Parts: sequence; C-alpha cells; structure tokens
Amino acid sequence: MSTSVSTHLEKVRKRIKLACEAVDRDANAVKLLAVSKTMPAQAVQDAYAAGQLAFGENYIQEGVEKIALLAHLPLEWHCIGPVQSNKTKLVAENFAWVHSIDRLKIAERLSAQRPGNLPPLQVCLQVNVDGGNNKSGVESQELLALAHAVAKLPHLHLRGIMTIPEPAPNEAATRAVHHQAKLLFESLKNAGLNVDTLSMGMTADLEAAIAEGSTCVRVGTAIFGQR
Ligand SMILES: *Cc1c(COP(=O)(O)O)cnc(C)c1O
Repeated sequence: MSTSVSTHLEKVRKRIKLACEAVDRDANAVKLLAVSKTMPAQAVQDAYAAGQLAFGENYIQEGVEKIALLAHLPLEWHCIGPVQSNKTKLVAENFAWVHSIDRLKIAERLSAQRPGNLPPLQVCLQVNVDGGNNKSGVESQELLALAHAVAKLPHLHLRGIMTIPEPAPNEAATRAVHHQAKLLFESLKNAGLNVDTLSMGMTADLEAAIAEGSTCVRVGTAIFGQR
C-alpha cells in the first residue's frame, strides 16, 4: 500500500510538472494538497514517507482525529469542507488553513477562537464560480465585500480563493470556468488585497486549473485511490 501511494504521488507530481511546462509556469508555483478524507491515518503516513506534507480534510471531526493521531509528524492540515458554526472552534484549534469560508460570521468566529499561541489561520474564500444553485460558496458579486471584511480580522490571514466547479462537459468548458475564477482572483489583487492563493483543480481537472493559474491543486483519488 505504501508503494502504491508513493507511486501515485510520483505520477501526480509529474502531471503537475507537465501541466506547468505546457503553459510556461514554474512547477514550484503550484502546491499539491493531498486530500485524505475518508482515508486512514496510515495512508497519510505513507504519503508523508513519500515526501508529502500538506493534507486536506473535508469532514472536521474525522480530520481532527487524524491530526491528533499524527501530531508527531510535521504536517500542514487544510480544512476544505463546509464549516458550520458549531465546528469553528475545532477548526480554529486544529488546522493551519481553511479553504472553505463563505460567510463573514464563520470567519469572525474562527478569528475569535484561534488560540493566541498559534500563527494566524490561513484562509481562502470559497466562491460559487459557476453559479450552481445548491452549492456552497459566496456569489461572485459578493466576493469583494467579504474579502475586505475578512482581511480585517486579527487572527486570520486572507490568502485567496477556492473553487469547486461542477464537472463541465469538455476541456474548453472546464477551462472557461477556471478562467472566471482566475479573473476573480485578479480582481482581489487589483482591489489592493494581498492574496497569493488560487485553490482550484482536483484529480479530474488539475491540468485545466493549472493552465488557468491555479496555485494549489487538491488531489484525492489520484493519490489514495477511489473512496
Ligand atoms: C474530495 C475533494 C477534493 C479531491 O477530489 P478528487 O477528485 O478525489 O481529487 C478536492 N477538493 C475538495 C473540496 C474535495 O471535497
């Protein structure tokens, strides 16, 4: 099993490198987040043994348990799933990053609950970039106001945005949605916000995301296998 995780990781790193080369980007400019949701702590340990340090978890309770089990390893944990009010304390106390903030109220709670002995929580705002109806994420028109408000919170550090678009029918449509996200990311920079993270792209669409400027791909299946 350890061999397969390390082989898979190697393949994903190669995909990232090739995708960067195809559009003349530096492969070091794209961070790989290994999404370990539903996978046992052993799988995370296997990935760590193969040099992977950053891990993403969707389900907070599950993530916190794994974080405790692996506290002896120098891992960086990212919360990438929905955060309800009653879970903000657990997130603030256990994670280094949150990609999935879509309301000011949640951001305020995370800031207030971030322990003073930890560095600020690194955060991205989740944007509903393709306008899907039942999806989480702030609407594009409301992004800038939310970003300005979050940037003012003392124990958070606003890093950028995150998107989870619906699978699109073809490569061109996938790229078009990622391009919208790229434009929104640029609009934050143009508004004077000091952001550096465009979190987009998963197993199926990481090449398209990288072509459109992603700086962080979140990959589960291609590393750990089917959930
Ligand atoms: C599950 C998940 C991923 C990883 O998806 P794969 O298709 O398995 O690579 C990335 N981001 C989020 C928010 C997820 O929930």
